[in-house]
Amino acid sequence: MLAIVGGTLIDGTGAAPVADSAVLVEDDGRIAAAGLRAAVVAPEGTPEIDATGHTVMPGLIDCHDHLASFTYDLLSRWGMTEPRSTRTVRIARVMEDTLQSGYTTIRDCGWLDAGFKAAVEQGLVDGPRLLVAAGPLGPTHSVQDRPTMSGHRRYSMPDPNIPYGVADGADEIRAAVRENARVGADLIKVFQTGFGRATHLGTDAAYSLDELRALVHESHAQGRRVACHAVGGPGLRTAVEAGVDSIEHGCYLDLDPDLLRMMADKDITLVPTLTVFAFHSAEGNPVAQVEARAFRQHHIETVQQAMRLGVRVVAGTDAGGWVHGNNAQELEMLADAGMTLEQALSAGTREAAACCGLGQEIGSLEPGKLADLIVTDGNPLSDITVLQERERIRLVMKQGRIFRNLLDADA
Ligand SMILES: [Zn+2]
Repeated sequence: MLAIVGGTLIDGTGAAPVADSAVLVEDDGRIAAAGLRAAVVAPEGTPEIDATGHTVMPGLIDCHDHLASFTYDLLSRWGMTEPRSTRTVRIARVMEDTLQSGYTTIRDCGWLDAGFKAAVEQGLVDGPRLLVAAGPLGPTHSVQDRPTMSGHRRYSMPDPNIPYGVADGADEIRAAVRENARVGADLIKVFQTGFGRATHLGTDAAYSLDELRALVHESHAQGRRVACHAVGGPGLRTAVEAGVDSIEHGCYLDLDPDLLRMMADKDITLVPTLTVFAFHSAEGNPVAQVEARAFRQHHIETVQQAMRLGVRVVAGTDAGGWVHGNNAQELEMLADAGMTLEQALSAGTREAAACCGLGQEIGSLEPGKLADLIVTDGNPLSDITVLQERERIRLVMKQGRIFRNLLDADA
């Protein structure tokens, strides 16, 4: 057993911060108690970590990242620029670094194979708790399709560890979902619109309603949630109608408030991923720049309408193709888009855990939940950018195990 004492506790339930708190962690990695220090009774001789002057809060969760992506260059995306071994080590470094930044859970929305999750669970590499989508799905001639530059079939073999997710028609779609389940995918990711390519804009639809319904039905039959890339246009409507579990991006939802109402009714989460579009606006390819700039105001209005209508809005950066290790910038951007700091913090903790289907296990510091927590210098509820400053992340604990501890240096 271990106690973290003296810090200001933000337990993530929405309760007011508690000064001079204690969090008691069992040897099995679960929280025994969290609250006012005077009210938490620890057995005699329980080792203590002094967090006085700091904030204790739930570990952060990113609901949309790509830990195995490093650039939008297609040759890199296709694994043709370096040996797979080099790439594997590179990904391991990113996982370690992401955990060090205070992110104890990452929902990877594509192209990270489940072997990385196994490596973390086996202790071969330090990393966040992972949920992986393995090989995203999309029809022939969608952003998921990877033909040659001339549009013809590619001759080289795709990565056998990541299902090649191009599938057309209900039968192929069901098979692709099942193959993802077979290789250990925790969720199913589908591209229902394009983005950033002249042939696949964010308002161009991919699957038909029938195809997407088959995908959702089979995914749920396999016990997997569906994360659906949908920017706008008819594909966005189809996605909501088919009953996916989360809309990734949803940039033009403000134009269709009835879709937001349907999302609230069906408990469909919105993962706006503001971060990635800030990058695309500034540095993306010419098509991506034009698209991202065109919907920027719609995207912000979407976040505000979604919050008003009771849609769960959670933090996801989608920024892996640009940068790793600064996932908390999404929390600042959500606040800039109109969330209160409390709402932004919840979007990266409690609400994000619900999006992952882990609301009973993580996302807040309550008895019985897994001890995923961080200790920060400063209070994120008065300045949320402290979460982006690496040296201010003083301690990172995942499931009761400490992976970073600079608090001793404070003593
Ligand atoms: Zn993505």
